[in-house]
Amino acid sequence: MAKFTTLYSGSSGNCAYISSGEGYLLVDMGKSCRTTVEGLKTLGAPISNLQGVLVTHEHSDHVGGLNVFLKKYKVPVYSSADTLDFLYTNRLVPESAELIDIDGRTEHIGDFSVQSFETSHDSAACRGYRIETPEGKAAAIATDLGYVSDEVLANLLLADFVSLEANYDLDMLMHGSYPYYLKTRIASSRGHLCNEECAETIVKLMQNGCKKFALCHVSKENNTPETVYSTVMRTLAKNGFVPEKDCLVQVAERYAVSPIIEF
Ligand SMILES: [Zn+2]
Ligand SMILES: [Zn+2]
Repeated sequence: MAKFTTLYSGSSGNCAYISSGEGYLLVDMGKSCRTTVEGLKTLGAPISNLQGVLVTHEHSDHVGGLNVFLKKYKVPVYSSADTLDFLYTNRLVPESAELIDIDGRTEHIGDFSVQSFETSHDSAACRGYRIETPEGKAAAIATDLGYVSDEVLANLLLADFVSLEANYDLDMLMHGSYPYYLKTRIASSRGHLCNEECAETIVKLMQNGCKKFALCHVSKENNTPETVYSTVMRTLAKNGFVPEKDCLVQVAERYAVSPIIEF
């Protein structure tokens, strides 16, 4: 059985975990090496079974713990060439780190087959990932995206499990304390995904048969887990689904390891 969880999730740091049998991958490592290692201990996942770290983009809430971690543990890092260039040039990874450009092909990493796809975000070259497990199941992970492009949707539609960003509630953002330029950046097509668009995307995925979802990168200032959940539930009900019966929707914990989702 393939498993997914997040070690932590939100603008203070993101790290997703996906496993099949003994082997596992991480997506991003935004908090310290110590916090990440503690999370893996909670999961009972030895670091010797970590087969690779996929990086979405270079913002600190996604790579903040990488440098120290990679000095201690030799694990390959996968991302787009531009993101890897940025990490290397800005010394966000050790000089000896094994950096692998994953774009444009299927990469076999340990027990998994991984494909990247573009996400629209104000970084060098942000990516989402579709990860196939040895059981023939697929997970898709997309955080930090201003909108769901056709390419993103096509990748999510191929997955049995989807981890999607639900960053902000538009009303809370617009009436909140952020300065105008920041509000505009977050809400732009190269910013973050709002609850409404996340919910509408989940409807499309459910109409296609996907039933398991983790909602990630929830803003501390412009959202609450309850707001995310109720927006998604309301949108599903409006579209004829009975959420409690038809699907599993989990809002990722900000500071702790979330319950494991099997798929
Ligand atoms: Zn970002
Ligand atoms: Zn982020």
